[in-house]
Amino acid sequence: MIKRIKALEKISQMLEPKGSQRTYWNNSIQNYADDFLDNFNQHTTYVVSETMGNGIYDFPIEENGKPIEEVLQCLKDNVDTPNINPASGGHFGYIPGGGVFTTAMGDYLAAVTNRYAGIFFACPGGVRMENMLLRWMCRMVGYPSTALGNLTSGGSIANLSAITTARDAKGIKAKDIEKCVIYMTHQLHHCVQKALRIAGMRECIIRYIPMDDYFKMKPKDLNQQIQEDKTDGLLPFMVFASAGTTDTGVVDPLEAIGIIAKDNKLWFHVDAAYGGFFMLSDTLKPAFKGVELSDSIAIDPHKGMFLSYGIGAILIKDTEALYETHRYSANYMQDAFTLDEEPSPADLSPELTKHFRGLRMWISLQLLGVAPFRAALEEKILLCRYFYKEVEKLGFEVGPKPDLSIAIFRYVPKTGDVNAFNQDIVDQIMQDGRIFLSSTTIGGVYWIRFAVLSFRTHLKQVDLALHILAGLTAGPKEVF
Ligand SMILES: *Cc1c(COP(=O)(O)O)cnc(C)c1O
Repeated sequence: MIKRIKALEKISQMLEPKGSQRTYWNNSIQNYADDFLDNFNQHTTYVVSETMGNGIYDFPIEENGKPIEEVLQCLKDNVDTPNINPASGGHFGYIPGGGVFTTAMGDYLAAVTNRYAGIFFACPGGVRMENMLLRWMCRMVGYPSTALGNLTSGGSIANLSAITTARDAKGIKAKDIEKCVIYMTHQLHHCVQKALRIAGMRECIIRYIPMDDYFKMKPKDLNQQIQEDKTDGLLPFMVFASAGTTDTGVVDPLEAIGIIAKDNKLWFHVDAAYGGFFMLSDTLKPAFKGVELSDSIAIDPHKGMFLSYGIGAILIKDTEALYETHRYSANYMQDAFTLDEEPSPADLSPELTKHFRGLRMWISLQLLGVAPFRAALEEKILLCRYFYKEVEKLGFEVGPKPDLSIAIFRYVPKTGDVNAFNQDIVDQIMQDGRIFLSSTTIGGVYWIRFAVLSFRTHLKQVDLALHILAGLTAGPKEVF
């Protein structure tokens, strides 16, 4: 047996690369990253691909490892080239992603040390760090010092956490579901519908409250609907507002909605996954007036703080409510629950073992400070306003004046199908690849969206977008 153990040990020790091997791999990875940042992918935003990354199947999972050069080439060709490049400053589609370099540094260290920051006992410093970041965000939104939340993988899970917490806090049981009423607008992000289903609330009654010309909820209509529902013996339970809708980036009238929610004892949740971090700027904060009246807020550091994908947050005013929904204990965890100086993420989320995702955010803020984030956010807002003005000068019809960093616009040609014409513009921009734009349809009207939230988007990229659009409307083929 000992012989066999030793033989296995020899092979299993490959899981612990020696110093020289580590250095070689580290250098290769570093060179790849530098090449990515300096050369190969910075200037294209969309790459039309025939193969769609199917060369990945030429690298099956096998008994023995392969040389790093081959592995990285496979990654470059199949993963880091085809289709959308979120690292490009020319990415104006959907909600542009981040990828601030310090995220990678934090993740690298979190992975190397593999600290378990789910339970205070296991890594008190890590839990303090994550809670400190949550309290920093809570302060930004105007929540009391007792508020907390949880760092999630993204906004979808943050919204889900808010829903399950609200459900339990309001004492909603399965038998009540069909009488429960939830209020939102058609502009609320679709992940909320998904989350309601996951939370077992598919049969709730959803009221879509009418919107004004800016696609914002009309508070009077909300109030009226709540009163009607109460009269009908239903259970009005939760209202959702958006602080930055995905389609047009507008903020619902949070204060008015908050007051109505409070008067009617509804849980008030704000989806600020996209827009929340604009609150870092004092000049932009007034747009969010009333956000502090909410019971919970979803906010995405992988959007508004430009971190790499994989970090969102749910902020909850009543920490106890979040705890009530998520805590659990098991006999095999008995050693872990003796210290409770700080609440543990494991008691505040569905996760137990988890990514130490706080480190990427903490190290970014520690190394860079808040100032560059705040400046970048203000810059993005101004770039969007600039674009909005300039694109109208080019002869495009523009949507409502942007509250934040998303504008919608379309070209109305003298003849022909307007929607098809604009769809064609989006297609041609994709073929060109220097920038990427996405579209939406609101009330049957096709709009092109211009969303600025990449930290690499500066005046140069916006001018390029305007230049390309000018060429397309002057005569669609000319610019190429
Ligand atoms: C992106 C977004 C979401 C979903 O968040 P993920 O991080 O993609 O899961 C929810 N709501 C809004 C307004 C968003 O912009």
